[in-house]
Amino acid sequence: MDNIVIFGAPGSGKGTYSAELVKHFGFGHISTGDVLRGEIQACTELGKIAKGYIEQGQLIPDELMIDILTKVYDEKRALGKGVIFDGFPRTLAQAEALKSMLESRGESMTIALNLIVDDAELIRRLLHRAEVEGRADDNEDTIRKRFEVYHSKTKPLIDWFRNEGVLEEFTFKGSCEGMVKELIDKLESLQS
Ligand code: AMP
Repeated sequence: MDNIVIFGAPGSGKGTYSAELVKHFGFGHISTGDVLRGEIQACTELGKIAKGYIEQGQLIPDELMIDILTKVYDEKRALGKGVIFDGFPRTLAQAEALKSMLESRGESMTIALNLIVDDAELIRRLLHRAEVEGRADDNEDTIRKRFEVYHSKTKPLIDWFRNEGVLEEFTFKGSCEGMVKELIDKLESLQS
């Protein structure tokens, strides 16, 4: 079964491209950000914990996140269509946990799609999204913190994915449609 990681800085389009890949391939979609926002909306205990971290642009602690991910993964895996991980892993501990969680189920990471977008375009998208979606963490202060967290904790995963032999990099060249096509072509080439 395909276990695909989609990876990149805040605003790189992980959610948008995941939706396109889900539409095309029928994958189960796990967006840890969406899971957490759902918990906040439902006012659960987890939601209360997550809210503080998200609004500060910080990461939810690894142990909690790994627990959540494992539960959601087992639900999506049962559908048997492959899974796309959007926003997880975000730390080396999460990456190692994902690897062992998959191995313990006889699975492995198929590919990690790294979306590369230049900083000016990332900021433009996030500020635009702030206007359109009104996400609590899309204000300038929080965006800055999310970038710091990305650079210090998440970006080192690029080398980790490379060492695992699963890294594929995709650079945004001005067209979302072009990027979608490149991603689909890559995944189709793996399936043939
Ligand atoms: P996203 O929608 O992926 O941009 O995630 C929004 C926020 O949710 C992040 O800034 C974090 O605060 C939190 N979050 C989402 N995924 C994770 C994760 N894998 N580990 C820790 N925190 C996460």
